[in-house]
Amino acid sequence: MTAMNEKNEMIPNKIYLSEDEMPKQYYNVRADMKVKPAPLLNPGTHKPMTKEDLLPVFCSELVDQELDDETPYFDIPEKVQELYRTYRPSPLVRAYRLEEALGTPAHIYYKFEGNNTSGSHKLNSAVPQAYYAKKQGLKGVTTETGAGQWGTALSMACSFMDLDCKVFMVKVSYEQKPFRREVMRTYGASVTPSPSETTEVGRRILAAHPGTTGSLGCAISEAVEVATSSEGYRYVLGSVLNQVLLHQSVIGLETKTALDKYGIKPDIIIGCAGGGSNLGGLIAPFMGQKLRGEEDYRFIAVEPASCPSFTRGKYMYDFCDTGMVCPLAKMYTLGHDFIPSPNHAGGLRFHGMSSILSELYHQGLMEARSYEQTNVFKAAEFFARTEGILPAPESSHAIRGAIDEALKCKESGEEKNILFGLTGTGYFDLVAYQQFNDGTMTDYIPTDEDLAAGFASIPQFPGNELR
Ligand SMILES: *Cc1c(COP(=O)(O)O)cnc(C)c1O
Repeated sequence: MTAMNEKNEMIPNKIYLSEDEMPKQYYNVRADMKVKPAPLLNPGTHKPMTKEDLLPVFCSELVDQELDDETPYFDIPEKVQELYRTYRPSPLVRAYRLEEALGTPAHIYYKFEGNNTSGSHKLNSAVPQAYYAKKQGLKGVTTETGAGQWGTALSMACSFMDLDCKVFMVKVSYEQKPFRREVMRTYGASVTPSPSETTEVGRRILAAHPGTTGSLGCAISEAVEVATSSEGYRYVLGSVLNQVLLHQSVIGLETKTALDKYGIKPDIIIGCAGGGSNLGGLIAPFMGQKLRGEEDYRFIAVEPASCPSFTRGKYMYDFCDTGMVCPLAKMYTLGHDFIPSPNHAGGLRFHGMSSILSELYHQGLMEARSYEQTNVFKAAEFFARTEGILPAPESSHAIRGAIDEALKCKESGEEKNILFGLTGTGYFDLVAYQQFNDGTMTDYIPTDEDLAAGFASIPQFPGNELR
């Protein structure tokens, strides 16, 4: 099954770009935002973080990118472009078989970022972050990883750049996903389950919550402590930060070039949202057009009902980490003490959200919705059976959103173009697939009381009162 565009060209199953059509610059959507995302605050003084404040934690050029709300384009270093060419451009796929199985008049496209060994889009930011660390003459970097995709991507990027890589892996994942750990170790990283006895903050968290299975927030605190107390090390983060959304703009820029080639304009753009990096990257150039008043699109963020930052969170300043060693970010947050229920298998477990996306959502430029995990896995199964790709549970939130929009088109008879981000593959999530296949997967939606406990951990100071 194939379709024609208005110029009577056949729209291929996969729209590939050539290597020289790949972006040579990242796009910074903040440059086109009239109301900028709120700045990071120093937790001690509640004053905006300066470059000097951030230099002990992050690499210098990454700090510049983090703080720059004005420059619309940043050159992608030649070395980074070279490494991108080892696994990019990624295909933009027309989901002909999915459309047919749904019986929808909608046209569905997905940008597939799972075609590299780390299995997700995270390599797009790991490569430049490792590059800037090397350029600065550092020995190594530290980080946290939840499900393991970021740690895997970073260890791969560090092996390319000959940098040491220390990964703090959320304990529950360390135990449930031993294979991920071995991939990281093969690339040369050291992997420590978090919370651990190796850091002060880890010991403090273990004393307060004995037997905890960990959270991304704890692992971040540990990684930051090690980076700031070890000579020649800095901390790197795989999501949430402005710099990460900047790097991930390669997803949206490639998508836009591919769609423009065939004269296709998406009506709805959908992505899953954990910390917001893939969604922020996918929508960046399209959101830029919307902000400049050139085009209009609907943007939809999809999150798990068990970790509903956008749909039930508060738009306030909060810590990005449980140990409260990181700066304060203004974002939709469930409170830095919020830990999703352990039966939640589908990733996207972070309590907060990118400040850029939070501000865009706050301004009504983007929508958000949440789904329960069994419903998400039903979409994953349907997608695997029609399109063949075994999707990551995180990505499957976007699939659920796209399928639901396509079914609405079936009712209304509208021939909309739906674009979604397929961020990765699910080969390391087979325990979750097993639960789904065995019918033992359960759903958990936090009660208002559960959420209130998390909200109570949000710091209160003038201008940041819980209402
Ligand atoms: C990390 C991850 C996500 C969520 O992170 P964002 O920063 O929200 O993009 C989604 N999908 C996959 C496959 C991931 O590895």
